[in-house]
Amino acid sequence: MKLSFVVPCYNEGGNVEPFIKSIYENFPVTEDYEVVFINDGSADNTFEKLKGIKNTSPCNIKIINFSRNFGKESAMYAGLQNACGDLVSIIDADLQQDPAIVKKMVEMLDANPDIDCVCACQEDRHEGKITAACKNAFYKIADKFTEISFQSGASDFRTFRKSVRDALLSMSEFHRFSKGLFSWVGFNTVYIPYTAKERQSGKSSFNFIKLLKYAFEGIIAFSTAPLKFASVLGSLATLFSIIYAIITIIRKLVSHINVDGFTQLVILITFIGGIQLFTIGIIGEYLARNYIQAKNRPIYIAKEIISYDKK
Ligand code: UDP
Ligand code: MG
Repeated sequence: MKLSFVVPCYNEGGNVEPFIKSIYENFPVTEDYEVVFINDGSADNTFEKLKGIKNTSPCNIKIINFSRNFGKESAMYAGLQNACGDLVSIIDADLQQDPAIVKKMVEMLDANPDIDCVCACQEDRHEGKITAACKNAFYKIADKFTEISFQSGASDFRTFRKSVRDALLSMSEFHRFSKGLFSWVGFNTVYIPYTAKERQSGKSSFNFIKLLKYAFEGIIAFSTAPLKFASVLGSLATLFSIIYAIITIIRKLVSHINVDGFTQLVILITFIGGIQLFTIGIIGEYLARNYIQAKNRPIYIAKEIISYDKK
């Protein structure tokens, strides 16, 4: 098999049919490829539509039907596990990412054996100024504080070789942050610019809060800087208390000023208490992830996998 498309779908009932049509337009059905759809616990008719496509499609279609919504990261992992092409292309089902670009990516990989991965980088984003500014700030922070480098605007829209797929699958961590994973596994990656189109139908599942959580996940997953930040903050607070204690003693001894103990106590207790809670919170975030990972739960549960007969 030459190429596998990995297509995560969550409530994409209105999109999957135009999507597969667009695939046929760019990749003649006589070519050697498969399309792996992951139905990520959609609440609409996505699964029925996918089964319809599977029954009528002249090309190889696989459907992985999740038992509930596990999130795009889990859907991509399931897709990678079930993709058997020499090249794998991750692409959204909402037609924001044009399959014509995949054609270009495949040509680049075919022409140059040194390239392992071609990644599409968003140039103009059709999104609010605040969201765009926050995303840029995230890339800068993540780039500075994590052990890996982040390319601004790099998306999950990528085509890569089997070796990259195997490397990604070998990282079976529960809290997945694909942008970091792609960077962590290395390989020779080429970035090409693209402009995301408007969604064909339905609405995006990533609102601002979800994106914020995802960004936080990314920093925690690839950096221990927040833990170090906690110890630095703790040390500063201790230093502050020591200096404050010395000043108070000197004032008492030298000027015989009556220090109002209650006010001082309130300031100190709230200051130290705040820092303690803050640092415990940061440690807790890491501990919680450790706890979840230690349970070793599967990244997803598939209710059924509908495959095709090997030709
Ligand atoms: N998606 C998914 N599971 C989810 C959320 C999204 O599989 O829990 C899929 C969705 O169907 C789409 C892709 O991930 O194919 C990108 O999602 P979306 O378009 O909502 O994100 P955006 O393009 O706005 O970043
Ligand atoms: Mg989208």
